[in-house]
Amino acid sequence: MTDHRRSIPRTDVLLADPRLGEARLRLGTERVKGMIIAAQRRAREGEITPGEIMTAVLAALPASAAGLRPVINATGVLLHTNLGRAPLSAAARQAMELAAGVTDIEFDLATGSRGRRGRTALAALAAAVPEAEGVHVVNNNAAALILAATALASGREVVISRGELIEIGDGFRLPELLVSTGARLREVGTTNRSVTRDYAAAIGPETGMVLKVHPSNYQVRGFTSAVPVTELAVLCRERGVPLVADAGSGLLRPEPLLPEEPDVTTWLRQGADLVTTSGDKLLGGPQSGLLFGRADLVERLRRHPLARALRVDKTTLAALEATVGGPDTPTREALHADPAALRGRAEKLAARLCDRGIDATAVDSLGVVGGGGAPEVSLRSAAVALDEGLAAPLRRGEPPVLGRVERGRCLLDLRAVPEADDERLLEAVIGVAESAGERPRSAPTGG
Ligand SMILES: *Cc1c(COP(=O)(O)O)cnc(C)c1O
Repeated sequence: MTDHRRSIPRTDVLLADPRLGEARLRLGTERVKGMIIAAQRRAREGEITPGEIMTAVLAALPASAAGLRPVINATGVLLHTNLGRAPLSAAARQAMELAAGVTDIEFDLATGSRGRRGRTALAALAAAVPEAEGVHVVNNNAAALILAATALASGREVVISRGELIEIGDGFRLPELLVSTGARLREVGTTNRSVTRDYAAAIGPETGMVLKVHPSNYQVRGFTSAVPVTELAVLCRERGVPLVADAGSGLLRPEPLLPEEPDVTTWLRQGADLVTTSGDKLLGGPQSGLLFGRADLVERLRRHPLARALRVDKTTLAALEATVGGPDTPTREALHADPAALRGRAEKLAARLCDRGIDATAVDSLGVVGGGGAPEVSLRSAAVALDEGLAAPLRRGEPPVLGRVERGRCLLDLRAVPEADDERLLEAVIGVAESAGERPRSAPTGG
């Protein structure tokens, strides 16, 4: 024991090892030092030999200074809220990296004076939605609604249909959010039916705004009626009250695959004064809330003191600009993936797994949009079906792979997996299956 202890290298000597140079830059010297001290303790307790200290430190080094781990989303859910909704495009990631440094985010290099914050991102959004006179960006769609309700209806009334008082998820309830701004809700109609005269009767001198909400995550069927934006717009214009419409999903234009999802352009054309939406759902960008619409209203919101508290970070603005003006997003690619191509990938993966003696079959599957959008839409997809017992080890593996357990099988749905990740997925499954001790079904050929 004493010998052991005497032969443990000193912390500063270990820290100076060139093999740790890169890790010190990436993680910080203090963090690496802490890992050395932990490994020295293990050696002192006889768990490892002094000679194994450096190997132990190198093996324990995390891939990044942040605790987040990159996950392969094989759930078949395109926008998985617990996995951070939309993955960003390479263009958006690159733009964020650039924006993270010192930039002219709020500075005009030509004149040497203060410039409009994020003007190039705002210009890209305006170009993407020419129908909008004004554009503003906040933290998320909830913030967009808070800002609109505060600036337009605090101390006054928000007229809204009872059929649109929705909960988005994780306890986020739209009515509670609206009331928190000091606005009063003036509910109209019933859960299943609202008609124009319900709104007409409710609008009065106390009305700050009329709010139309797309109930993204559920549908009411049967004896139902909701007033379309076109009709509400006529009424609101007659009465001189702003019509704010929450489209939710982030589509800027109609998406033929999702005919029930509203989009910003159509609602503006139909006469909505302001349309709000999320940036990290079907738009495929960073977490943000987008407001499009009448120039005077956007300006009023932008100048409200609350706007400062809801404003987005420079990296968000950069990612948004690269998302709307750049190449197709991973979300769009996943949404438009051809089911036959997905099936082909699943078959290839399953065959390669079988070659390694792992029980795997390609099966048809159904994916969904997720993120509280298009609840009725199933996306034809394909999956690799594995032994159910692999689901948990795959989740705990490196990289973690999240599948879906269905009828006693673990399905790895390829709809939300970019094709470029197929090799990583394959290696992850092989690693987990082989260490889980799956017996080859046929004897190794030895050749
Ligand atoms: C998702 C959604 C929200 C909330 O958006 P966040 O960007 O998550 O704040 C609000 N309204 C609708 C209709 C939605 O679909």
